[in-house]
Amino acid sequence: MNPLYDRLFGRHAARDAPFLHLPDGRVISHRDFGHMAGRMANALTAGGLVPGDRVAAQIDKSPEALALYAACARAGLVFLPLNTAYTADEVGYFVTDSGARLFVCDPGRSGEMAEVAKAAGATLATLSGDGRGSLAEDAASAPSEFATVARAGGDLAAFLYTSGTTGRSKGAMLSQDNLLSNAETLAAAWHFTEGDVLLHALPIFHTHGLFVATNVTLVAGGAMIFLPKFDLGEMIAQMPRATAMMGVPTFYTRLLDDAGFDRDLVAHMRLFVSGSAPLLAETHRAFTERTGHRILERYGMTETNMNTSNPYEGERRAGTVGQPLPGVELRIMEGGTEVGPGETGTIEVRGPNVFQGYWNMPEKTAEELRPDGWFITGDLGTQSEDGYVTIVGRGKDLIISGGFNIYPKEIELLLDDQPGVLESAVVGVPHPDFGESPVAVLVPAPGAAPDFDAIRAAVKDGLARFKHPARYEVVDELPRNTMGKVQKNVLRDRYAGAFG
Ligand code: AMP
Repeated sequence: MNPLYDRLFGRHAARDAPFLHLPDGRVISHRDFGHMAGRMANALTAGGLVPGDRVAAQIDKSPEALALYAACARAGLVFLPLNTAYTADEVGYFVTDSGARLFVCDPGRSGEMAEVAKAAGATLATLSGDGRGSLAEDAASAPSEFATVARAGGDLAAFLYTSGTTGRSKGAMLSQDNLLSNAETLAAAWHFTEGDVLLHALPIFHTHGLFVATNVTLVAGGAMIFLPKFDLGEMIAQMPRATAMMGVPTFYTRLLDDAGFDRDLVAHMRLFVSGSAPLLAETHRAFTERTGHRILERYGMTETNMNTSNPYEGERRAGTVGQPLPGVELRIMEGGTEVGPGETGTIEVRGPNVFQGYWNMPEKTAEELRPDGWFITGDLGTQSEDGYVTIVGRGKDLIISGGFNIYPKEIELLLDDQPGVLESAVVGVPHPDFGESPVAVLVPAPGAAPDFDAIRAAVKDGLARFKHPARYEVVDELPRNTMGKVQKNVLRDRYAGAFG
């Protein structure tokens, strides 16, 4: 028995129905994909890998990259995908820290990565986005039959390193059950079936594109239009063939920027899901106005997979991330006790989705994962009487000014509504008198400029004095990472000297 392989990858592997539609017109069926995974698993084990070994991979998005993930599950190996933007130095840390026995990189980087692999004591193999490289060659000559290695649900299936905006990135250890339980829960919650075709433009080194989008499709036995990255023209061209899309908020704002994105284009769609970063309530409303669809926002993280979701049927409440998923418990804590509806605190979650701890970091694990299974997410939020959760920000983004707590989100929501403002980010920077003071960074609406008279008036009326931004900055765009998250650490550094 190997729950993850059997119930996720193996469930539909005997069917000839399409699994991947590629931009060049190729179609890979569920059966073909099963064979690719079998060949890849043979190639991996022929190289001497044994269950529990880690396989690190910094490779472009491709069917072969997904087959590597499936092959690891099938052979009982721990899959460790890495952001393709990482430099050789950064990759060196992950490969060494994880103790990976095999490191798979793009053939174009094999020169610099040979050093990395050597220093880490890992074997190097290559795999390109168009399916070439040493691992592809080994797989091509291997049989497609593979005796799936027995695993238990508690065995590790993947390491995902957190983005590490503060301190060293940590390797979140995810078990077979962590991945499987969440995939099955989400597929049911979002009504995924064999008839679904998911428009997939997310990276597959992150939980969103790999575990949410791909696993849900696999469990349901549906198909994906598998695009290498987000390209507006390609998204518009492919949309009429899809039934569902998952994206980060920037996908939605970019689609809305295109006049060709309209009701007719999405007539065939049944679901749009957003997550990984906050979706502005305004984007939610603009999307509904344009398309008639209500975006379904959900909330999760590397360590926990998905925790909450707006309902498939029922109210998808703009500005909230919905209610806890079936089987997931959620509570809001402040000063060691659970707070009531509407009160702000740190979000904690518990359930089969919650990871097994940080690799080689028992102290960090103990700080964030309580012995009774509650995980301290580090996100601040509130929960309404009827269970909807609103994220107020990351705990580390909280501003403490003159001893008062300031939640940046409260200021940002007010600023976003002002004339001439597209969006905003508020960060705390050192201040000689107050400890910290809020700096508001504004992005103007297209062709407009922030109306500072209106902004000052709204701030004066709407916010207590200590929350007023001590300074405003106007920028063309906010710094974001590949998942569309605003990098507040970059803004804090940029304006660190603002108050001398
Ligand atoms: P990552 O581990 O890279 O997936 O980042 C997880 C973090 O992204 C969470 O802890 C939240 O701070 C944030 N996040 C994810 N989904 C949402 C959402 N729908 N709204 C607001 N923040 C989100």
